[in-house]
Amino acid sequence: MADRKRARRVRPVRASAALRGPAELGGDIAPHVRAVLAAIGEDPDREGLLKTPERVEKAFRFLTKGYREDVRAILNSALFSVCYDEMVVVKDIEVFSLCEHHLLPWFGKAHVAYIPKEKVVGLSKIPRLVDAFARRLQVQERLTVQIAHALQDAIRPRGVGVVIEAMHLCMIMRGVEKQNSVAVTSCMLGGFRDQLQTREEFLSLIKKKHDGLG
Ligand SMILES: [Zn+2]
Repeated sequence: MADRKRARRVRPVRASAALRGPAELGGDIAPHVRAVLAAIGEDPDREGLLKTPERVEKAFRFLTKGYREDVRAILNSALFSVCYDEMVVVKDIEVFSLCEHHLLPWFGKAHVAYIPKEKVVGLSKIPRLVDAFARRLQVQERLTVQIAHALQDAIRPRGVGVVIEAMHLCMIMRGVEKQNSVAVTSCMLGGFRDQLQTREEFLSLIKKKHDGLG
């Protein structure tokens, strides 16, 4: 009887012992995740949760890797002088970020446009720019402005337009907003702000064949 009782209690503890050491836990985040698990009434030693602190740490390091990216270097590595002064639009760029108020994901699409003056930037750098700012703790409004200003500073174009459409799990999951409600933010600089026609051209280009988020 006593043996059976002990076996039942000891087993999960043994299984977790190897993961308790700081080396196995990796960095600074995992022990805190373990504490959170205990605080919400979970048993951090049960099988399904044994590796969760490490996994969460890895996930958080990935989802916040934008802090370690040099936005200026990304853009400066691909600036070209080109005789082109029509609008450049990169639309439907996937955005995945974490809201800084709840650490819950928010995700959607970014549309970025500019009208070059002397320089253009390699098209593949624009999604990288979006990612560098999105992989941080963010609010959608700030992300929108940061992308626009980074582009403005790097290539000094005639204007920049950024629109982001996104869904926030902190709103949807907590029932603050109706399911599927999409938040739209925009930042218009230079010609995109001053000229209605430019702004409308941009907005109609991103609407075209737009498949939405749903
Ligand atoms: Zn939130």
